[in-house]
Amino acid sequence: MLKGEKSTRGGIEDLLCPFTDMYITQGTEGSSHKGTKAIDVRGRERGVRYPYYAPCTVKCIKTYPNNGQVMWQSVNKVRFSDGSIDYVTFMTAHDNTMDSYPGQIVSQGSQLGNMGNKGYATGVHCHIEVSKGNDTTWKINSYGTYCFNNQIDFDNAFFMDNTTILNGKGNWKYTYDIIVEDKKDSKNYANLSPNVSSWRVYDLHVKPIKRNAKGKLNPKKFGGLTYYIYSYMDEGTTAEIQTANFGRVKIYIVNENCKITINNPLYQYGDY
Ligand SMILES: [Zn+2]
Repeated sequence: MLKGEKSTRGGIEDLLCPFTDMYITQGTEGSSHKGTKAIDVRGRERGVRYPYYAPCTVKCIKTYPNNGQVMWQSVNKVRFSDGSIDYVTFMTAHDNTMDSYPGQIVSQGSQLGNMGNKGYATGVHCHIEVSKGNDTTWKINSYGTYCFNNQIDFDNAFFMDNTTILNGKGNWKYTYDIIVEDKKDSKNYANLSPNVSSWRVYDLHVKPIKRNAKGKLNPKKFGGLTYYIYSYMDEGTTAEIQTANFGRVKIYIVNENCKITINNPLYQYGDY
């Protein structure tokens, strides 16, 4: 993600990758990550304390100042990159200038901290590990390493929009991989093909049969015509549209020459 970036769809924040440039220096198999899903991330240049940002709106749960370490939790349920929706709890570590405090709220896109080498660290990086849900249990595993109860892989948690992956393998996902229906924001359009020169229109209250036709549209003449759909009628076979010549009417939409699109008008508007 970039500084200040936000993403909310359907009233739910997408969990964005906190890093703008991501160079993974140690993965989950690394010697200090045994039995965890933790990764270590540095930025473009070695040794630079790059900032990282709040992947969603979070609250500081707990700090571990000796390690520049903070446990964060989302304020609300968020959307993970695997499409699931739940609280997220995660840990960041090694920030030399960590100044967070329990209860602190950081909004999505605001700076969360800086990479660093405070505590048990060999180079400047951010150690990060993620848990799905609001369980804050921090326990020692069989390798003697601390980790969360419900830890999950980084690539199943964060959307990689606007993150440049410089090093590291993963099944990276982007917000466009998870389609969210947001009825408030989606506009449906009927797009009438330029192949057709005659398309009957009907008054809203009549049965849409030939003898009830009020007139005809001519998509061919205009290189195709697009109409915003106000509503679907006649069990989804017709749509209510606004036309320049006939006012508010309905047209048949179940036809190979009529393509329905969402938020994407294909031709010029027949009216609005
Ligand atoms: Zn680490």
